[in-house]
Amino acid sequence: MARGQGPYLYDVDGVEYVDLVCSWGPLILGHAHPHVLDAVTAAVHRGTSFGTPAPPEVELAAEIVARTPVDQVRLVSSGTEATMSAIRLARGCTGRDLVVKFAGCYHGHVDALLAAAGSGIATLAIPGTPGVPAAATAATLVLPYNDLAAVQQAFATYGDSIACLITEAAPGNMGAVAPLPGFNAALARLCHDAGALFISDEVMTGFRVSRAGYWGLDGANEGWVPDLMTFGKVMGGGFPAAAFGGRRDLMAQLAPEGPVYQAGTLAGNPVAATAGLTTLRLATDDVYRRLDAVAATIAALVDDALTDACVPHVVQRAGNLFSAFFVETDDITTVPDFGTASRQVLPRFAAFFHAMLEQGVYLPPSAFEAWFVSAAHDDRAVDRIAAALPRAAAVAAAIPAGPPAATKSGK
Ligand SMILES: *Cc1c(COP(=O)(O)O)cnc(C)c1O
Repeated sequence: MARGQGPYLYDVDGVEYVDLVCSWGPLILGHAHPHVLDAVTAAVHRGTSFGTPAPPEVELAAEIVARTPVDQVRLVSSGTEATMSAIRLARGCTGRDLVVKFAGCYHGHVDALLAAAGSGIATLAIPGTPGVPAAATAATLVLPYNDLAAVQQAFATYGDSIACLITEAAPGNMGAVAPLPGFNAALARLCHDAGALFISDEVMTGFRVSRAGYWGLDGANEGWVPDLMTFGKVMGGGFPAAAFGGRRDLMAQLAPEGPVYQAGTLAGNPVAATAGLTTLRLATDDVYRRLDAVAATIAALVDDALTDACVPHVVQRAGNLFSAFFVETDDITTVPDFGTASRQVLPRFAAFFHAMLEQGVYLPPSAFEAWFVSAAHDDRAVDRIAAALPRAAAVAAAIPAGPPAATKSGK
């Protein structure tokens, strides 16, 4: 791609695409928003990195604290660093090693979190990719998502050794999967009772699905608060910026105030922080209403097109994240976990993806990803999607279900 403007990407040949990836989430205002560009340009002229805090970093931290339940945040340069640091802090604070995660949840490419489930529930994990030593995942437990009984069993078996449980606030990295009502609350309670920390990873959902991220849609109403949270994507406004934060007593354990080491040469970079701060300040209630509305519209269009073409599917939403699962049969009506998400006819998705691309609509190039909209997705962009869908659905319908779908490993 050569450039982006509003809801569109333009490739090196000048072809225009409606962008439903939005850089994997950050661009809630669309590409090249003029106010963001102006603020970034002015920031560059003040100097690009100081190696000591500058006003944009402090103001971005204050904006995050104002929107979410964290007392304090520390800025880093990627979501991967945020989750890696949060886990180190949890291990340092608790003096325990075990980390619990869910199959299908992605938390960046941290060695310990690139883990696949072992042979049964409550067995320790195996590396999910070459290059990760078994020792790096030996202290990771991988459980099925939305399965409270499995979590209870793991805590009953290993509770005294668990440093933390990390979960996407609403998974968007196996397609969009909402937590069952009360699931996050139950996780927070289980962690609390075991003396473990509850880490809610809002790198994808944070500042996208509401002002206060997914927590704003569940924890804020149910009255629970994560011990630690991680943020990224939207808060960088298209630049590398991320953060982790939480309770003051936990954050006080970080160096230099406390003993748990953490650092980053470009963390809190003034240009990146300016892009993020400007984006968050422009992300008003109107912007969130627009994101919700356009996500609902596109999700309904996709659902209708696949229904009309008789393609078995589940279109699912988690806040304004949504995705279409090309499931094997009409018997699957909801996708609560990675096992179900893996029961897709992947060649059907591939055919659908390419048919959309040929008609100028750029979808996430995987059946295991959420689709992202921006507030710049206007009626023209939606009309382009609507016009492309019938042919893409027909192309998908022509692909036989074939042998059982391959499953994706890794995340
Ligand atoms: C994208 C993502 C990460 C990793 O962030 P990077 O900036 O790509 O390192 C972590 N957690 C979640 C939930 C994500 O969606």
